[in-house]
Order: sequence, then structure tokens, then C-alpha cells
Amino acid sequence: MMRVDGTVASDDEGGRNGGGTMDYGSAWARVKRRLRAELGEDVFASWFARLELEAVSGGTARLTVPTRFLKSWIESHYLDRVLNTFKAEVEEIARIEVGVRGSSAPVRTVATGAPKASPASGPLARLHAAGTPAPVAAVAPEPRSATEAGGDLSGTPLDARLTFASFVIGRSNALAHAAAERVAAHQGEGALYNPLYLHAGVGLGKTHLLHGIGHAAREAGRRVIYLTADRFMYGFVNALKTQSALAYKERLRGIDLLILDDVQFIQGKSIQAEFGHTINALIDAGRQVVVASDRPPTELEALDERVRSRLGGGLVVEITALDEALRVSILSARLAAVRASHPGFDVSPQVASYVARAITANGRDLEGAVNRLLAHATLTGTAVTMETAEAAIRDLVKNREPKRIKIEDIQKLVASRYNVSRSDILSERRTAAVVKPRQIAMYLSKVLTLRSLPEIGRRFGGRDHTTVLHAVRKIEKQIGEDSVLGDEVELLKRMLQD
Ligand code: ADP
Ligand code: MG
Repeated sequence: MMRVDGTVASDDEGGRNGGGTMDYGSAWARVKRRLRAELGEDVFASWFARLELEAVSGGTARLTVPTRFLKSWIESHYLDRVLNTFKAEVEEIARIEVGVRGSSAPVRTVATGAPKASPASGPLARLHAAGTPAPVAAVAPEPRSATEAGGDLSGTPLDARLTFASFVIGRSNALAHAAAERVAAHQGEGALYNPLYLHAGVGLGKTHLLHGIGHAAREAGRRVIYLTADRFMYGFVNALKTQSALAYKERLRGIDLLILDDVQFIQGKSIQAEFGHTINALIDAGRQVVVASDRPPTELEALDERVRSRLGGGLVVEITALDEALRVSILSARLAAVRASHPGFDVSPQVASYVARAITANGRDLEGAVNRLLAHATLTGTAVTMETAEAAIRDLVKNREPKRIKIEDIQKLVASRYNVSRSDILSERRTAAVVKPRQIAMYLSKVLTLRSLPEIGRRFGGRDHTTVLHAVRKIEKQIGEDSVLGDEVELLKRMLQD
């Protein structure tokens, strides 16, 4: 509650009765403390130290960070986690938005008749009922589970739709599918290929196969844990840490099959050690481990050599791009599934074949295309024609062409990440704050474009090609030694390629 003297009341006094003004500032401070405790100092310092609460309004908490880079990283990796943690403190919080400080329209102050917080309350002065800003990103709250509190080892639930039965087999995934089925069906002593390591680009069916393994193995009575990298890092490891070494081993013995998705996201020294330890313990005890990643084990730069080689020591299978026949099959299966619940939804074979030819990237885009066709048909009440299909999926089609990345875009993005201007990057200035982003931008220009070193030098304020070469070598070396920088550069690459 707002006190008469204008200071903000503590949580105990003003808090959860819903009627008064909630003290979001101290709730937010507790959220940050919890995130720090749960995620560890490394992760917290990299991503959350500069995350601030700007306003809460109508169940939406608006958070801000200084750069687009941080916004994108937090949105893609931690939105659910931040939401759930915040919600645990303040029940009314139903959505999180992340904005970039200084770049969006200032938050409007709505006169509520309540006295303004005194300037002495610092950042709290900015916490007020605000007009709801345009959503930048929002997620619905996940049901809370025991794992969140760091309590159990139950893992992430399996999606009932992602089974072997709904998985369409083609040339590019036949081997991965066969290995997955064998691992799931295996009974008796020891494990088959341990670990089974699946890797592929996004949307090619890794998660689908992992869930398929999970369902099948559970049906066969085996004790299965499926975990995303996030869950592994923040739930599982915490749960393990709170056990004695003996209890820990006991818990591990209770697992027949551990499935880990997206292991490329596992990072941080202590988590990595925990990860290596867990994998070793399970494999040594003859338990099956299955992992998926977007890259082969040798390219998991964030992990140390021993962990990488252990991961690569079983069977490594790649799922390659979906060929056209497979895309047609996946699409037909999807269309049939949708038709079961929308009997009027009719897509001609010509349209289906056009979509399967046009969308080459991945299964997720095929699914997106089906949803758009369905939306179109439902909204207009007309059958899907070639023209409407073309219009509906146009942007998905455009996305598939590998984008030609411009040096200028690289400079702009890197500048915004490091809070310098593009002209700083092109300038003669040699302060560390400018030199590092400049070298990263040069490195990215070399690896993401076909420009020659002299050409890149010219585009960076007329520098010599040896300067560019020096920068490229230096960043290459640093990426190898510093996994935080490695992740950053990797994310910059992905943002440029999107
Ligand atoms: P990944 O984990 O590799 O990024 P997913 O497993 O999430 O990809 O697949 C993306 C979407 O494409 C999912 O809806 C999935 O069901 C679908 N999909 C991918 N491959 C297949 C396949 N072979 N058969 C059926 N659906 C598939
Ligand atoms: Mg996946």
C-alpha cells in the first residue's frame, strides 16, 4: 500500500490483498534473488543483471534491458522461467513483456489519483499503473509444477501428439528413427548405443523423435525422464545438488532412460560439470541416455573435451533436410489430422503439392502453413485455391531462401549489442569499448558474407586487409577460449541469419 507519507509499503503490509498498490519493486528484487540462486552467478550475470522492472499493469509486467540482443536472448530462453518466478511472488502477474530501454515510446503515466512515490524510492518511482504498452513478447503462464521449486526429478511432460505413430519416415530420418525405435524397445541388461545422439537443424523432428522414444519406453514399463536443457540446468541439477551423494546415486538408479533435448544450450562451468557427471554415472551404470542437439558433439563448443567425446562415444545420427517426398507425406498427415476436427477444410492435392514444394525448410514451417491455410479457410469460408495458398504462405516461402547478409547490417547489429554507434565502429577510435565490437563485426563479415578481406577492410572505414585478418584470427581464438563470448557470437550469427 502507498503510505500517506508517500513511501511504498513493504510486501507484508501492502502485498497480497489485491486491493491496494502492490509493492512490485521489492517483489521484483526477490524474483531477481531467486533467479540468481537458481541459475547461478554466471548465467545470472550474463543475462539478468541488467533486467529491470519498468511497470506492472493489468497483469502484465513490463521488463526492460539495455540492448536488443539481451531482449532476444531472454525472450528465447527464459521468458517462461521469469514469468513463473514472478508469478510465484505476485499471483496477478500473467504476462511478461521485454522491451529495450530507451528505444521504445516512454511508458505513459496514468493518473490514478494515488500519490506519486517519492523520488527517494529510486527505481520504484517508475513503478506505477501504466497504459499497457504494445506487447513486445508475451507468454501465458505455465502450470506450476513441483520441479520449479527445484524439488523433484520428474522432468518435462511428454507431448501426447509426438509419438512414433505420428512420425513420418523418409530418407533423411530413417536411420535416426530406426535407432530411436530400437533404443525405446530395448529390454534387458545394458544399453544399446549409449548415448544415442541425434542432431539436426531446427524443425527436422528431433524433439518429435525424443518424445516418441519416451512414450514407447514408458509403455514398455521403463522409467523415463525427458528434460529440456533448461529443465536440466535449473530443475534437475538443483534437485541433485540438494541430495547427499548417496541419495543422488540412489535417484539415478531409479532412471532407466534419460532423454535430454537441445543440449547445445547447456552452459556454465558448474552445470557442465554436473552434466558430465550425470551422463557418466548413468552410462557407467548401464542406463540408456539419449540426447538431441542442433549440431554434432564435436561442435558443442560450450562443453569441455571430455564431455564432448563421451557424448560422441555412442551412436551419432544426423537427420538431414526433409526431401520433397517426405514433406508431402508430413503435410498430408497434418492435413488429415486437421480435417478430422474441421470436416469442411479441404485442400486439393495440387495445393498440397505446391505447399510441399515451396516450403523446404522444416517441419515447423509445414505445420505453420497448414495453420494458415486453415485460418484462411475458416475466416473466409471459402475453399483454398492456389492463389490464396500462395498468399497465405508467402512469407514462409521467402524465409527459406538463405538470406544474403549485408556488412552494414552486421555493423548495425553488433553496434546495438555493444551500445556503440555504427560510426564508432567505422571510426579510428581505438578504445576497448569500440575495438572489441569492431573486431567481432569484422569476424562476422568474414564468416557470413563472401566478401574478401580487402573488401571488408574498405567497408570498415578503409582499413587494411591485414587488420581484418588480425581481427578474424583474434575473435576465432577468443571464441575457443571464452564460452560466453562464443555464445554471444553464435547468437549474433543466428539473429543475422533469421
Ligand atoms: P526439432 O526438435 O528438430 O527442432 P521438432 O521435432 O519440434 O523439430 O519438429 C517440428 C515440427 O515438425 C513438429 O510439429 C513435428 O511434429 C514436425 N515433424 C518434423 N519431422 C516430422 C516427421 N518426420 N513426421 C511428422 N512430423 C514431423
Ligand atoms: Mg526441438
